[in-house]
Amino acid sequence: MGKWIVGAAWPYVNTIPHLGTMIQMLSADVFVRFLKLMGEDVVFVSGSDEHGTPIEVEARIRGVDPKAFTDAVHNYVINLFNKWLIDFSLYTRTESEHHKEFVREFMDNLYKRGYIFSKIMVMPYCPRDKIFLPDRFIEGICPICGYESARGDQCDNCGVLLDPTDLINPRCVFCNSRPIYKKTKHWFFDLSKLETEIKEWLLNHKTIGENVKTYCFEWLKRGLKPRSITRDNKWGIPAPFKEAEGKTIYVWFEALLGYLSASKKYLESIGKKFEDYWFNPETKTAYFIGKDNIPFHAIILPAMLMASGEPYVLPHRVASTEYLMFEGQKFSKSKRIGIWIDEALKIVNDPDYWRFALIRMRPETKDTSFTWREFFRIVNNELNDDIGNFIHRVLSLIYRGFNGKVPKPRNILDIDREFLEQVKKCYEEYVVRMYNAELKAGSEKILEIARLGNQFLNRRAPWKLIKQKPSEAASVLHILVNVVRGLVLCLTPLTPNAASKAWVMLKLGNKPKSNELKTAFDLILKPGHEILKPSPLFKKLPSDFLKLVNELISRARNEVLKERPEFVK
Ligand SMILES: [Zn+2]
Ligand SMILES: [Zn+2]
Repeated sequence: MGKWIVGAAWPYVNTIPHLGTMIQMLSADVFVRFLKLMGEDVVFVSGSDEHGTPIEVEARIRGVDPKAFTDAVHNYVINLFNKWLIDFSLYTRTESEHHKEFVREFMDNLYKRGYIFSKIMVMPYCPRDKIFLPDRFIEGICPICGYESARGDQCDNCGVLLDPTDLINPRCVFCNSRPIYKKTKHWFFDLSKLETEIKEWLLNHKTIGENVKTYCFEWLKRGLKPRSITRDNKWGIPAPFKEAEGKTIYVWFEALLGYLSASKKYLESIGKKFEDYWFNPETKTAYFIGKDNIPFHAIILPAMLMASGEPYVLPHRVASTEYLMFEGQKFSKSKRIGIWIDEALKIVNDPDYWRFALIRMRPETKDTSFTWREFFRIVNNELNDDIGNFIHRVLSLIYRGFNGKVPKPRNILDIDREFLEQVKKCYEEYVVRMYNAELKAGSEKILEIARLGNQFLNRRAPWKLIKQKPSEAASVLHILVNVVRGLVLCLTPLTPNAASKAWVMLKLGNKPKSNELKTAFDLILKPGHEILKPSPLFKKLPSDFLKLVNELISRARNEVLKERPEFVK
């Protein structure tokens, strides 16, 4: 049994996640459920990222305290993650005391070890609002791609990381004034000291994907420069350095440490030691992120861990996805393009359907569009016809033909053995894909097993064999019911509710136990084992769903408006 720490990028709680941001959280959950079923010892953490200028901007615009704002969104979002069946070890927040304390200590250590220095800088300052304008307090034209509304920290269009002084024609986001420039002292993390080590680490890394490496080497070409880690804004963790009064730690640095602080909190709560996991060279860490987050997880985080001088395990897997689009467009809160995770469950009220469909659309190798047509096809053809029907047909044949008891195999033909071998091959590929965090590719294998099952069922037609060659019928169904068990196990990480329902029908308990996926196609169900009367696991979406969907969306939007915290309506 190996130790794993799995993290999903901490959602920024200036708003509610939409389907595009939910992909990371969901992917991490599917991965974690898979690992646990393979008998691994997994800690799964995430939390609300709630500091920094975007939240302050939102709160200022609404005239509320940032803490009141993030309290409301954090609580609302936790409830939604529960509804989506995200099974965290701990979902916390960056405002929690344990996190703040961890960050202060970590920073203090980096400072003592000579990785942090201070420098007087000239920064944009709004003479009207009388504040400095870091990050998102300032917007202007991107010097790289010419995008009009690039922010002080990053361009949303081309993804380049920026300093406020890089912007062309900068303006204050609160009053549109042109900033003046003033001196202020800031602290920097000296990434340049770790350039060689980071390069070597990435070059020799066996489990970090080529897409991540390519992105990082692009960055490394420009050289690793010291990155500022303090900000002149109020909402955040006060910087722990001398003469840093009134300054906070840059949100990106402290949020990354959330993986550590949250797993520490969780492990201590169950009487285990943080060091046994994070300082254990056998522990594997995996991070589920969008591609815009790659440099933070594959360069900055490992650099911080290296700089600490402690034997932290460096990232084992950085599972980054491309972007999920919505019907060919970018998700946009301001333009109302997309579906948000609370609305989704009002439109189709079964988290399993969403979980399965989103993993099937997971943008693993290229940007992918969520479309309602594809959602409809996945739920009706794949989940219902291919998977659900196969399971239902097999269980019904046993229930009706053999009094609900798994029949005793008597006459096994080569064709039956070959079928089982094919299924096992698919399963082995499924396991490899899933360990690689290629979840969409893994789900492909689940469908392949179901389709092989349906083909075999049609070819062997046990409903005919029961009358003509009952001993062959018994052998066929004995294999098939075990394939059903294996299929349900493979499906469990994706559709945990339906899988539990199937587990109950198979009279195997409430849900699969840890380790059980390892024996997925091992003919565990013995002759005489009784099953319950089967009922279909999934329901089809109505045939006019695509015609009705716009109406369903507007109804869902009205409903969530009543439930969302006041600040995010
Ligand atoms: Zn740009
Ligand atoms: Zn201003």
